[in-house]
Amino acid sequence: MDYNSILQRIQKEVAELFGIGKVADYIPALAKISPRKFGMAVKLTNGEEYSIGDATEAFSIQSISKLIILTLYLKKYGLEIGNRVGVEPSGSAFNSLVQLEYENGIPRNPLINAGAIVLTDGLLSIYPDIKERVLEFARTNSENSSISFDEEIAKSEYDTGFRNFALANFMKSYGNIDNDIFYVLNAYFHHCSIKMSCIDMTRCFYYLANEGVSQNGKQILSTRGTKRINAMMLTCGTYDAVGDFAFRVGVPAKSGVGGGIVGVIPNKMSIAVWSPELNAQGNSVIGMKAMELFTTYTGISIF
Ligand code: GLU
Repeated sequence: MDYNSILQRIQKEVAELFGIGKVADYIPALAKISPRKFGMAVKLTNGEEYSIGDATEAFSIQSISKLIILTLYLKKYGLEIGNRVGVEPSGSAFNSLVQLEYENGIPRNPLINAGAIVLTDGLLSIYPDIKERVLEFARTNSENSSISFDEEIAKSEYDTGFRNFALANFMKSYGNIDNDIFYVLNAYFHHCSIKMSCIDMTRCFYYLANEGVSQNGKQILSTRGTKRINAMMLTCGTYDAVGDFAFRVGVPAKSGVGGGIVGVIPNKMSIAVWSPELNAQGNSVIGMKAMELFTTYTGISIF
């Protein structure tokens, strides 16, 4: 398969979609990014890597950090997850409050904000340094020690994250948050602010494509745990557009409001794409299209 030509073709075709979406501005520091960016990278399980465009430029991974939290949580608390969070798609926005009230402060799944905040709280109870552990996970798995938090973005979100504070307070009122919410959200916002490139992301999340084994040969998670995370990505990873994403792309994936999307095709490859302009559901317009074209042109998906 000529991956270089396929990526070139995708880059050319998606360029006409610039200007349709809108860069996230509800976190003011995120709005500073230049909108006309496009990067894409692929890492095959035979070790080959391909990339194009702005694939080496680091950007804010935002919700993609939820995959790291989930991985650490499953390792610590077991694959059943427990009763503090569910595993069903939400069908609502990533930061929705309404559903939480109906469901007594138990978030639908770990890949929406409320769910990741609960998991961060659980991990914080065991690891007071969870913030640094998540960063270390990104660095070690990507074999890139320069990966860092973007303190300006973390602070900007802390200062304006009224909805996430509301979610956390609301869950605390139901007894589903143990720690002080300021510590929990400080960790959560820092995880979201981590900056990685598409190439870093294909390396970091390679274990999800490789039965739990990282690119440096470490068993990060069991095969069963990996299967569970991939299943959750497919059903919950792209907000309230999961159906459309599965329909068009056919790959388990997690997106973030920084414009990144990471996906895996088990036993074949990890894929990452980045372009900051988002659609109404918070997914990158160009990123989604690029992933769709990739599975179309390669003929490879999970189905
Ligand atoms: N930090 C963002 C928030 O909590 C993450 C949202 C996302 O990427 O989906 O609002």
